[in-house]
Amino acid sequence: MSSVSPIQIPSRLPLLLTHEGVLLPGSTMRTSVDSARNLQLVRSRLLQGTSLQSTILGIIPNTPDPASDAQDLPPLHRIGTAALAVQVVGSNWPKPHYTLLITGLCRFQIVQVLKEKPYPVAEVEQLDRLEEFPNTCKTREELGELSEQFYKYAVQILDAVSLEERFKMTIPLLVRQIEGLKLLQKTRKHKQDDDKRVIAIRPVRRITHIPGTLEDEDEDEDNDDIVMLEKKIRTSSMPEQAHKVCVKEIKRLKKMPQSMPEYALTRNYLELMVELPWNKSTTDRLDIRAARILLDNDHYAMEKLKKRVLEYLAVRQLKNTLKGPILCFVGPPGVGKTSVGRSVAKTLGREFHRIALGGVCDQSDIRGHRRTYVGSMPGRIINGLKTVGVNNPVFLLDEVDKLGKSLQGDPAAALLEVLDPEQNHNFTDHYLNVAFDLSQVLFIATANTTATIPPALLDRMEIIQVPGYTQEEKIEIAHRHLIPKQLEQHGLTPQQIQIPQLTTLDIITRYTREAGVRSLDRKFGAICRAVAVKVAEGQHKEAKLERSDVTEGEGCKEHILEDVKPGSISDTTDLALPPEMPILIDFHALKDILGPPMYEMEVSERLSQPGVAIGLAWTPLGGEIMFVEASRMDGEGQLTLTGQLGDVMKESAHLAISWLRSNAKKYHLTNASGSFDLLDNTDIHLHFPAGAVTKDGPSAGVTIVTCLASLFSGRLVRSDVAMTGEITLRGLVLPVGGIKDKVLAAHRAGLKRIIIPQRNEKDLEEIPGNVRQDLSFVTASCLDEVLNAAFDGGFTVKARPGLLNSKL
Ligand code: ADP
Repeated sequence: MSSVSPIQIPSRLPLLLTHEGVLLPGSTMRTSVDSARNLQLVRSRLLQGTSLQSTILGIIPNTPDPASDAQDLPPLHRIGTAALAVQVVGSNWPKPHYTLLITGLCRFQIVQVLKEKPYPVAEVEQLDRLEEFPNTCKTREELGELSEQFYKYAVQILDAVSLEERFKMTIPLLVRQIEGLKLLQKTRKHKQDDDKRVIAIRPVRRITHIPGTLEDEDEDEDNDDIVMLEKKIRTSSMPEQAHKVCVKEIKRLKKMPQSMPEYALTRNYLELMVELPWNKSTTDRLDIRAARILLDNDHYAMEKLKKRVLEYLAVRQLKNTLKGPILCFVGPPGVGKTSVGRSVAKTLGREFHRIALGGVCDQSDIRGHRRTYVGSMPGRIINGLKTVGVNNPVFLLDEVDKLGKSLQGDPAAALLEVLDPEQNHNFTDHYLNVAFDLSQVLFIATANTTATIPPALLDRMEIIQVPGYTQEEKIEIAHRHLIPKQLEQHGLTPQQIQIPQLTTLDIITRYTREAGVRSLDRKFGAICRAVAVKVAEGQHKEAKLERSDVTEGEGCKEHILEDVKPGSISDTTDLALPPEMPILIDFHALKDILGPPMYEMEVSERLSQPGVAIGLAWTPLGGEIMFVEASRMDGEGQLTLTGQLGDVMKESAHLAISWLRSNAKKYHLTNASGSFDLLDNTDIHLHFPAGAVTKDGPSAGVTIVTCLASLFSGRLVRSDVAMTGEITLRGLVLPVGGIKDKVLAAHRAGLKRIIIPQRNEKDLEEIPGNVRQDLSFVTASCLDEVLNAAFDGGFTVKARPGLLNSKL
């Protein structure tokens, strides 16, 4: 730079107020623009201006001021630097923000501020000519960079117009700067040595790396991070294509100013890329015998499921391939689907990760957002891989039946690609934008029902039904698995708390109503918490008793015994001292901890008037008993239906009424005025109370008929009977689904006689023996038979006793 032609600056300049340092003539700096005033200036002068418009601005150093958006113009420094705007970068989202690259040309002095809004413009007088100091640019640039800490000093230099004055000001500063540089060099060298050491250690650390630990926290400052990142990319084992992308991106990153939004975006991307387990996997260990033992140890009952899982594992062992259908466990919540998935991972020695799909309706949830979006992220699959840190985990795709669909694309289609062995070795997440090989991942899906699984997905899966548990099974599961686990989690020992089986049965029947064991488990949690408090209090009290005199100890005892009910946990606390006496959880203690029972046997109470019958419904949460209530009133033959029900249920109601009307004479059914035309001057209201789950399906047909028959005959339905079956207009009973779950629900509710369609008789084989023993089944092929079984002594004038109590 030997000579530079003199530059004449315009006599009027728009003023940009910076607080990021002082721009000296000949130096270049970046300044971020975010105050309203400066934004206006940039927009109208630099972004919208014509090419003829000058891009020379007056840069006025402004004291660092966080409230730079204040309305009034602050008092302006009289001397500034005219600068050329070389580059504008930035975006308008999430809020407008630009970064300007400016080069200082020469100093000027403000003669007069001409206008203040929307940005200040001043008449200026040029103070020096650029050619006067051509060789000192470099030094000035460095001085400019000294920014904030030397801010005052730098402003003074700016103000020093005469050469002599300028030297006086700058020499001490230069000396300081040189010393600073020396120091900096020393520390850099030190740091580089450190980096080398870290790199050398890294491979060793990676092997013992536990997924999810924050490994890279200790790396500091940005620049060093970038160097580290580059090294990681170089040493990473990612495939060539991914490597190429990373190299390109890091080159871009190095050129980017840190204030740019894209900087963070690119950096996050690269960090994810180096973190992903491209080539890292665990070694499978599979021993079918050990797997069987492990599955048996972790899970009681569920024989069918365990058997199928073992078969699946055995085939894998023999064929050594993952191709084949994806297992999908279908059943109500809390029956151990997730838990079996976890055991599969354990037997194989693989990492386990659960991906909840419930409510996912955007395909970018699976496949990620493109990086052009602000706040874009990888999808759940890639995130999961990052979390587990290996490329062959067991992924449990939880609740595939609850996938949604929306304008943002169909997540099921994305999932299909993930699961398809022909495609998934080349899975491309939108965020990564390079293929990741998913072929080593073992996928297992779970669902509550197959009805809502997208058909294409269902096609790829092998469904294994996991039914609900009987009371006996629940008791066993509770005592073998749930209670020991809860005790451990709460730091209790069997010497401190004892839960008899009778108490467990009380919890099952009076505090929970579910097919699985999830609420049951939670209730044990609540019990353990309450006992833990008592045990801790007891220990505390013991310690206190040892320390203090007797009077104080008794005072303490009185306090604890406040609100004690006879036999409740609070007075058993006293038994807990000395500590070797366990706290016994009996029904009183249960009431104390869990409150009054939530489900008392209400059946007989509710069936104490005509017009009520109990049906059996199937819901994705398991079987349920369902009361159907009917009442009649004067009217014009209207039918009203209320409760949570769908269209099919309404049709069943119409069928039932039509059948009863056509058979009114045969059964001597009359309306209030004694007419066989049941709807003459009569309205009927049918209600399906309780349960927020919509019940649909034709299986309530027989129940509605029974309920109405009771209403019009004035006779009570037997209080121990429940029924299920579809009806036809001619009074035939057709088979329905979900028999096992329904029967278990009836059993849970304490019912004894169950009416099912004749053609469902074969389904009874699935019912566990002990449940079957408690129940009597009536199989019916027509409505006559249903009614005969539902009412004491039969319903027709001449009951056909041969059809009753066909006990299995
Ligand atoms: P799901 O995935 O079917 O909703 P989970 O697997 O979350 O159910 O099971 C809930 C809890 O019940 C877990 O703690 C699980 O270990 C336990 N559990 C369920 N079934 C069994 C079983 N047959 N044996 C032992 N524990 C079980």
